[in-house]
Amino acid sequence: MKPLIVANWKCNPLTLKEGEGIVKRVEEGVKDFDSAEVVICPPFVFLPFLIQEFPTVSFGAQNCFSESKGPFTGEVSVPMLEEIDAKYVIVGHSERRKAFKETNEEINLKVLRVLSSKITPILCIGESREEREGGKTFDVIAEQLEKCLFGVSEEDSSRLVLSYEPVWAIGTGQSAQVSDIGEVRVFIRDFLSNKFGKERSENIRILYGGSVDSNNVHSFVTEARMNGVLVGGASLKSDEFLKLIKTA
Ligand code: PEP
Repeated sequence: MKPLIVANWKCNPLTLKEGEGIVKRVEEGVKDFDSAEVVICPPFVFLPFLIQEFPTVSFGAQNCFSESKGPFTGEVSVPMLEEIDAKYVIVGHSERRKAFKETNEEINLKVLRVLSSKITPILCIGESREEREGGKTFDVIAEQLEKCLFGVSEEDSSRLVLSYEPVWAIGTGQSAQVSDIGEVRVFIRDFLSNKFGKERSENIRILYGGSVDSNNVHSFVTEARMNGVLVGGASLKSDEFLKLIKTA
């Protein structure tokens, strides 16, 4: 399985021009490179322009709504993302859980909706610092997995991507320990294996996210044996991001 490298631009950059500049450099940098799969997730407003302008690059959205259409001011639905040819969508990022109070139940509806389309969901899970320090990491992860994956069929399960992102490691410059990440990976893999069967669950990529850069990415992919990484800050600097992709 090739490592999957997902760039989460969050609410950046401010202009489409700047975004085009980043994608252009990434596109050129990975032109003759097929050892990793790269996905860029810009803000919604830039997405259709970038998809049209860079047909060789895979793009995803950072969020979606669980209903297809209707009186939901400000929301963007999965059929709309399909229409513009987005390939992935991040669901349940901790910033959405925290700042927008998204619950596991709402995230579950989004996962099911995305799986009913051609788009691949990237489901984010992870514990807060208090939960880790209180010894609750595995309880929190188990609850997130149970609730967010409720009703996902065995058949659809192989289209899932999971991203383990300890909340305290996101955007802080302080990534988690490789041994802790590896332990959580094993826990998630066991959970998936029990729920969907060993064979199917082996097709599900499990990524790590949280202050990943070109210096630490190698250990996450090799020692912790993650199937890729989700990258925030470092994905906005094209030289650093290209170095990270090649190192991974
Ligand atoms: C993220 O956006 O999920 C993330 C992990 O951000 P950063 O790489 O900046 O920690």
